[in-house]
Amino acid sequence: MKEFWTLAREMARYRGMLLIAFCAALLDAGTAFAGFGLLKVIASKTFVDDPEPMREVVRNLVTHPDKPAWLPDLTGLTTWVPAEVYPGFAFALVMIIPLTLFGSTMRFTHAALSFTVGLRSVMRIRQRAYFRMLHVPADQPDDIGAADRLSRLMSDTSRLGRGFSALMGRAVRDSMMGVVFLIWALIIDWKLTAIFLMALPVIGFTIRLFGKSVRRASKYSLQQYAEMIQAAQESMQSPAVVRVHGAEGYERRRFNAINRAVFNQEMKARTARALSSPVIELISLAGLIGVSLIAGWYVFGQQSVQPADVLWVLVALGIAGGSVKPIANLNNDLQEAAAAARRVVEIIDAPIEPNPRGAFKDPALGVELSRHHQSVVFENVAYRYPGADGLALRGVDLTLPFGSSAAVVGTNGSGKSTLLNLVPRLTQPTEGRVLIDGIDLATVRLRSLRDQMSMVTQQAVLFEGTIADNIAYGRRDTPRDEIIGAAKAAFAHEFITQLPEGYDTCLGEAGSGLSGGQRQRLCIARAVLRQPAILIMDEATSQIDAESEALIGQAIQALQAGRTTLTIAHRLSTVVDCNPIIVMNDGELIDQGTHEQLLERCGIYQTLVKNQLTR
Ligand code: ADP
Ligand code: MG
Repeated sequence: MKEFWTLAREMARYRGMLLIAFCAALLDAGTAFAGFGLLKVIASKTFVDDPEPMREVVRNLVTHPDKPAWLPDLTGLTTWVPAEVYPGFAFALVMIIPLTLFGSTMRFTHAALSFTVGLRSVMRIRQRAYFRMLHVPADQPDDIGAADRLSRLMSDTSRLGRGFSALMGRAVRDSMMGVVFLIWALIIDWKLTAIFLMALPVIGFTIRLFGKSVRRASKYSLQQYAEMIQAAQESMQSPAVVRVHGAEGYERRRFNAINRAVFNQEMKARTARALSSPVIELISLAGLIGVSLIAGWYVFGQQSVQPADVLWVLVALGIAGGSVKPIANLNNDLQEAAAAARRVVEIIDAPIEPNPRGAFKDPALGVELSRHHQSVVFENVAYRYPGADGLALRGVDLTLPFGSSAAVVGTNGSGKSTLLNLVPRLTQPTEGRVLIDGIDLATVRLRSLRDQMSMVTQQAVLFEGTIADNIAYGRRDTPRDEIIGAAKAAFAHEFITQLPEGYDTCLGEAGSGLSGGQRQRLCIARAVLRQPAILIMDEATSQIDAESEALIGQAIQALQAGRTTLTIAHRLSTVVDCNPIIVMNDGELIDQGTHEQLLERCGIYQTLVKNQLTR
């Protein structure tokens, strides 16, 4: 519940609206109070053997000896009220309409404002959560997972919003109504009211008893629903894999097992649910009859109480009870919202990488790294993935002068990607330092570092939008000829112009509609466009066939002028011209040198080359 209240503080931002909503609820309750009074007057003066004309009633009221002194003299009003019995009755009855109209307007105001505050708060919380998600450190062990993160961002926040609205909407209005009618009951006869209220604990206890078991069951089934969604989602994501592996049976059994577990939980709640309404009714009725017996004994034993008042007290208490009944649900809503709040707070309070982009104005966030022109240095770098046992990198010492075109080679899992991820500070070394132009990356402002860098990875990451937008990702206002220049440099121009709408062709989700190689060339174009001082390519050409790779190899060589390039290549043929070639093995830097040097002296490099040629 603590998390819920923390997040609920977001609503405090809308104090003004909340205040108006509260006043509206108050006026609504006041109107209900007056309406009930009017009805009672009509009924008790007109529906009797000797009806009193409404004008008399009003006159008695405004000239009542107990009338507070501050009220103005209202005797003039009496002339408005018809003197005859029936017209007077009709007049009083019709007066209820404007009263109700006013009450309804207030109720609308209150509800609309509560919703507004709830929705706005949710929007802001989503904003915060999304910002956090964008800045999750790249090397954090992801124990939440993308699907779960998404569902927290979308559905848990809206469940939270429902909790907010319920809190301000129902809780405030309903409890006010309850109080108003309780007051009426007390005004009519407080002793009688007290007698009736004695039945309350009995009824309350029964409702709680049933509520508990229903709630417990629904909590478990909610958890299992989440599992069910996950199981279904996983298999839907890659239908081809499921089918080719003939895993339909396995997936079906997995799904059915969860489905059955949900069913069993629901069945447990079934008895409680089905029984609750009849039992609650029975016990309530028994309680009511019990107290009615006591009340009757009290009423008939005393001259001062009118039997009709018993009815009025009952009606008032009934309305009061009816108003506060939804508050029982409120507890459920709040419990649900509290569970959601816990999950939302987990992503809002998640650690983020130091000095994220949005916070660049803070001068305490490190030194500005000017454009790289000297060196990239790894100083005795070790790296351990959070939660991993062994080191993924150890004792790496490497100096690359500005303008080098380095290639990193090694078997799978030898630590190549881990090494390159340190340069844009996607990860920070566990030990040792990475320096650019002599400045430790741990101390620089992240933005100044990444702004001079491009990275192309094996996964060709494209977004929904036009090809031009994708190439100019993050730099939307780039002129078209620059985009075309970048595309030409990446050997993408040709295939783009063959598309029906050229650069304005819209790509589907994740760039669907293009081949793997085409996608990668778009990503390379994007990297080129940024004119980076440091270009990182992690198996960027893995999807490109040998022929275009040779072409791109030339392009990349042209690109290497005036910047430092770090390449992990899928095929050794593309890196033979690089200098230095860095050989990694099991997290260690084994050797570095030119192709010829390494071929002569480095056993691991020889093996790599041999395996490539014989394959
Ligand atoms: P390469 O790019 O050379 O194929 P990586 O740098 O990706 O290799 O991985 C180096 C080592 O670090 C491997 O043993 C791999 O299992 C481990 N590793 C990679 N990513 C993670 C991660 N997110 N968490 C834990 N261990 C990882
Ligand atoms: Mg890799």
